[in-house]
Amino acid sequence: MDQGNTDKTPLLSAIVPVYNEEGVLTELHRRLSQALAGIPASVEMLFINDGSADGTLQELQSLRASDPRVCILDLSRNFGKEVAMTAGLDYARGDAVVILDADLQDPPELIPELFAQWQNGFDVVYARRVERKGESWLKRATAYMFYRFMRRFTNVALPEDTGDFRLLSRRAVESLKELREQHRFMKGLFAWIGYPQKAVPFERDPRFTGYSKWNYPRLWNFAIEGITSFTIAPLKISTYLGLLTAFSALIYALVVIIKTLLFGDPVKGYPSLMVVILFLGGMQLFSLGVIGEYLGRMFNETKQRPLYIVQDYAPCELIPGKLDAPGQKPEEPERQP
Ligand code: UDP
Ligand code: MG
Repeated sequence: MDQGNTDKTPLLSAIVPVYNEEGVLTELHRRLSQALAGIPASVEMLFINDGSADGTLQELQSLRASDPRVCILDLSRNFGKEVAMTAGLDYARGDAVVILDADLQDPPELIPELFAQWQNGFDVVYARRVERKGESWLKRATAYMFYRFMRRFTNVALPEDTGDFRLLSRRAVESLKELREQHRFMKGLFAWIGYPQKAVPFERDPRFTGYSKWNYPRLWNFAIEGITSFTIAPLKISTYLGLLTAFSALIYALVVIIKTLLFGDPVKGYPSLMVVILFLGGMQLFSLGVIGEYLGRMFNETKQRPLYIVQDYAPCELIPGKLDAPGQKPEEPERQP
């Protein structure tokens, strides 16, 4: 696979999804360059412009003018971070690929350590937050419940307290590229591929500038996505809940019959009737909703659309003897059968 690659220096790709981050890019580039300077590898920095509406693209272009290691992949609109990352993985050419956020919450200074673990033979080296500063108890509690559920009902070991900040080996990237599902729960996909994985602890900084694109509705959707992409447990749970309710209804029916036989029936029981009807109605709607979630996802998958559309691709300057290696050309990685 590596024929034509004469010098042994590995290539490290840093991929950065960016969406409306004009204020931070210069600082990011400065810190990234500094952090990568000590690494025994050639470097490309691939920025994926995820349909930014501000001056992000211009900012990237001016960075590219001053630094030939900067490549820009410009998506045709905003596709969301998960898809932007996927695009980055498709176009990255490195022997190792590190993914980091643009907002400097993922400190570039950690990359040498991730890289060292890659050299030690790990395929997925993820950065784990040691402390979640300034997060409400509600967010912590819901996160805790989510991870417990995932551990209990799926067979992938989702690491807790990790974001997308991680370094992947070439073969891990190739494996990830095979997973073309529309509903992309990347954290799960990273875990699903397996390979030797390693955690490196770090402290996550607050955002450098701008604002987070996350809020509770988005987190809720994220959790639903995670669950429905990796387990059909909710379908089973709703089946058992249905069985349980039917069984309880049967018992209750027996109670009612016996009561009527013993004491006659002095037409009461309207409240209990209402309770039962509402409860069963609720259960049915809930189960239908669960089925609907899965059905909707199947609908989205069957359309088989490409995950993203590239508007423009400006690869970084080829490093002699390195990037022309056959099989490394990032020509339309989309739309394999
Ligand atoms: N991002 C993106 N597309 C989006 C939303 C976010 O590429 O639709 C990028 C964003 O520019 C940043 C990273 O994803 O580099 C993380 O976003 P954010 O800081 O909003 O998330 P948080 O750190 O709050 O989880
Ligand atoms: Mg952030």
